[in-house]
Amino acid sequence: MLDLNRVINQACSNRLILEKYAEALADGRRAERLAEAECRLCHYSRAHVGGQTITTWSCGLCGVTSRHGSTAVPCLCVTCARLRHLCRLCGSDLDDKSRRKL
Ligand SMILES: [Zn+2]
Ligand SMILES: [Zn+2]
Repeated sequence: MLDLNRVINQACSNRLILEKYAEALADGRRAERLAEAECRLCHYSRAHVGGQTITTWSCGLCGVTSRHGSTAVPCLCVTCARLRHLCRLCGSDLDDKSRRKL
C-alpha cells in the first residue's frame, strides 16, 4: 500500500542515489580512487556491500586466494587491478574506456 511516508522515503532514497551518481561523474577524489583501484561507480556508490563474514576468494586474473570481510568479494587482487588499470571490485576499466583487449 502506497502512503505518504513511503513516497517521502523513496524520494529521499532517490535523492541520495542521484547525489552519489553526481559525485561519481564529478570524480573529485580521482587520485584516491585510482590508488584504491576502484572504478567511479564502485568508489562513490560503495555498491559492493555484502553480508559480514569472512569469505575466501580468488583473483580473476592471477588466481591468488585471499580472505575478505564480506560476501561481496573483489573481482581482482590489488596488484592485478593496478597493473591492468582495472577496478579491483567489479573488473571495469578505471577510466570507463571500452577495450579491445584485457
Ligand atoms: Zn591477481
Ligand atoms: Zn568497479
